[in-house]
Amino acid sequence: MVSERKKMIIGNWKMFKNSAQASADFSELADLIVAKNLNLEVGIAAPSVFLAELARKTQNSVTLFAQNAHWANEGAFTGEVSPAMLKSIRVNGSLVAHSERRQMFAESNETAGKRVGALIRAGMKAVLCIGETLTERENGDLKKVLKTQLEVALNASGISSANEFIGSDPSSPLLSIAYEPVWAIGTGKAASPVEAQEAHAFIREVLASYFNPETSSRLQILYGGSVKLNNVSDYMACPDVDGALVGGASLVAKDFAELCEKC
Ligand code: PGA
Repeated sequence: MVSERKKMIIGNWKMFKNSAQASADFSELADLIVAKNLNLEVGIAAPSVFLAELARKTQNSVTLFAQNAHWANEGAFTGEVSPAMLKSIRVNGSLVAHSERRQMFAESNETAGKRVGALIRAGMKAVLCIGETLTERENGDLKKVLKTQLEVALNASGISSANEFIGSDPSSPLLSIAYEPVWAIGTGKAASPVEAQEAHAFIREVLASYFNPETSSRLQILYGGSVKLNNVSDYMACPDVDGALVGGASLVAKDFAELCEKC
């Protein structure tokens, strides 16, 4: 069953690059991915202001993600972007509740769930980010935190059918989970592959009891937090790690393509 899950590597550009750099880097990456003919899905989560331009360049070689999407199709939500808007410019999905949004923009498990629900209903990919802080880990609360983040968000999504979360292409399910320990993001202090595997196996267990074992075995769980060229293969060797969400190491196209190749 494990071998059925396709690996997915997503570069999170966060709030970096200007328009010219984003265009040039994205084109370079798309060309490299095509040339390398890799058997995995490569994505970029770009600042929303660049998405329309990048969508014209993907030619399906790179899956395009927003970094955030609202739960309404339209409305009085100044500063927000809706799944319908993203879909209209051919963006494929969005990250949801990255820890930077949880910490700095008051994203909660409930709002995360509403965003996931809206994306899935639009037929778009939702990458739900979860993860514990260092204090939570040190207090022995890792499992409690991950279970709450997952269950509250899935309940708030308003979608009850497991099949809807998979969508029409089972080899590339609409819902995926990114496990990103907060203490490992941008710090250079990555979780060990053993720690990542333990957390991923637990997440899969929670998904199996929330949905069912079959659905859980199909969903991709990505690891994020200081993933680099020199450690990515160690994570990919873990049975429950189905890819990575990569911040700093995704900013230079050539280096990110090389990292993807290691998977
Ligand atoms: P990092 O960021 O790879 O720079 O640690 C990961 C992320 O924020 O998704």
